[in-house]
Amino acid sequence: MPLQYRAAVLHGPQTPLSIETVTATALKPADVLVRIRATGLCHTDLEVIEGSLRYPMPIVLGHEAAGIVEQVGPDARGVKVGDHVVLSWNPHCGHCFYCDRDSPILCEEYLGKGPQAVSFDGEVRATLGNGEALRQLMYLGSFGEYCIVPDQQAIAVPKEIPFDRACLIGCGVMTGVGAALNLGAIAHGDSVMVIGCGAVGLAAVQGARLAGAGRIIAVDLNPAKLALAAKMGATHGIDASQEDVVAVARRETVGRGVDVVIESAGSPAAFRTSTEAVRPGGHVIWLGKIDVDKDTSFRWGSLMQEKRIRRVSYGNTRPRRDFPLLARAYLEGSLMLDDLISRRIALDEINDGFAALKRGETIRSVVTFD
Ligand SMILES: [Zn+2]
Ligand SMILES: [Zn+2]
Repeated sequence: MPLQYRAAVLHGPQTPLSIETVTATALKPADVLVRIRATGLCHTDLEVIEGSLRYPMPIVLGHEAAGIVEQVGPDARGVKVGDHVVLSWNPHCGHCFYCDRDSPILCEEYLGKGPQAVSFDGEVRATLGNGEALRQLMYLGSFGEYCIVPDQQAIAVPKEIPFDRACLIGCGVMTGVGAALNLGAIAHGDSVMVIGCGAVGLAAVQGARLAGAGRIIAVDLNPAKLALAAKMGATHGIDASQEDVVAVARRETVGRGVDVVIESAGSPAAFRTSTEAVRPGGHVIWLGKIDVDKDTSFRWGSLMQEKRIRRVSYGNTRPRRDFPLLARAYLEGSLMLDDLISRRIALDEINDGFAALKRGETIRSVVTFD
């Protein structure tokens, strides 16, 4: 008897997710069946719902999740039944041009199959009630009671970390902390500006703190998010609706500009501000996204002075190394995850959760399963 489970299915852009009973396929040899216990609503999922990020449908979204391994295929490595896992959304083949150059995020196998939302073998891992193939975002699709993933995407973490907090490590927290720790080249005492204090930005603030930054300037339009940033390590907060962000950056750095800017707002204004606020020779890291077909503009003079700009998706993570580290950092008290969760909701409330995310009311809504 094939496994049936409830999942939130997107049939077309700008339509509500529909909660349906779907059917899992049989496990392939290197697959792992994960019972999802918690999954976060990320802005990237919203971009697919809104149509600014385009995927084939019907599809199960959700790519920030934690759960329990229920079954493993005979060739699955790295996890066993009963392990608590955080899911990674960066499957990679290990033997292509980019994998050989230590850039698994650019894996040609994944970038080839990923946009079709099918697995490495070109097949899906679930079907709708009428038998139609059901695609899975990033080989995951965690907005359901279960999902089948390649073994490399299920990363065991300590069982002490609660699932609703563990799931955040799988996308938003890894993206922000990783940008600061793995890419930001933040030296002890450096000045760091974080533009946009959603889940990713608040994680970047914490990454800057863990890296030993001297000044951490948080920028947002929402005073409540700035207050959270202060709690997580920001030394300054700027309400961009009230103050000139670039002027403050210069004032705080004797006119030079900050050493590192981490952009996590995903707006043309934020991209532009990032190049203006960084000092000559400084680092700019872009984490946010806008519609893939839209242009964005800069003042040429802001780009001239040896500034290093990098667009990054997943904090240059190596999940098997980083996920357990972040879980332990939470358990030891140096990484704050509790305050990133604004709401815990049931799967049936997922459309309300996305509406709240779109209105900017929540840092993270997390779907939890009883
Ligand atoms: Zn995400
Ligand atoms: Zn590859």
